[in-house]
Amino acid sequence: MARYTEARCRLCRREGVKLYLKGDRCYSNRCAIERRNFPPGQHGRARRKFTEYAVQLREKQKVRRIYGVLEAQFRNYFEKAERQRGITGENLLRLLERRLDNVVYRLGLAASRTEARQLVRHGHFKVNGRKVTIPSYLVRVGDRVSVAEGSRESLRVKELIERAAQTTPPAWLSYDAEAATGEVVAYPTRDQIDVPVKEQLIVELYSR
Ligand code: SF4
Repeated sequence: MARYTEARCRLCRREGVKLYLKGDRCYSNRCAIERRNFPPGQHGRARRKFTEYAVQLREKQKVRRIYGVLEAQFRNYFEKAERQRGITGENLLRLLERRLDNVVYRLGLAASRTEARQLVRHGHFKVNGRKVTIPSYLVRVGDRVSVAEGSRESLRVKELIERAAQTTPPAWLSYDAEAATGEVVAYPTRDQIDVPVKEQLIVELYSR
């Protein structure tokens, strides 16, 4: 499965905001945005005028990078969002939030979406009692996401279970710390999705 493997901090610097792609490092003073808050590359500090298209493009790239989704897959999410009832931009974010790797991250069972993706790929999670190794798996209301029994002895997974016990998940998820199990109690509303993006700009970009 294709994925982005280059330096992640460059992506934050390109977008000019923290995208929280590296877990605990993002909350420390080692964060690249804290040290060099200008775009990467030779002309990073040059003054630029952004066209309307460039603004829309940057917003799309920002969302794609936050959720770790490549272009073709992102386009598929957008087309799916368009076919759903309601506001397309909100539908798009809701679909992205429902990805299994995002849910694991939201529950606190991973320090970043990147780590969540890797843990899912390595078979550390179950959905409704069945192992799921597809990070893009879309959860539904009522789904229960649990740590696989065989994984609970792993040092890192133990740390993450402790971390999740101290994390407050968003209102659309609940978490049972004893069972290390989360449940999808509803689909997220826009105000429950704390990503700093103007999704309308993405709709405008794809409507060109
Ligand atoms: Fe982005 Fe995290 Fe790197 Fe900071 S440390 S630039 S938030 S990925």
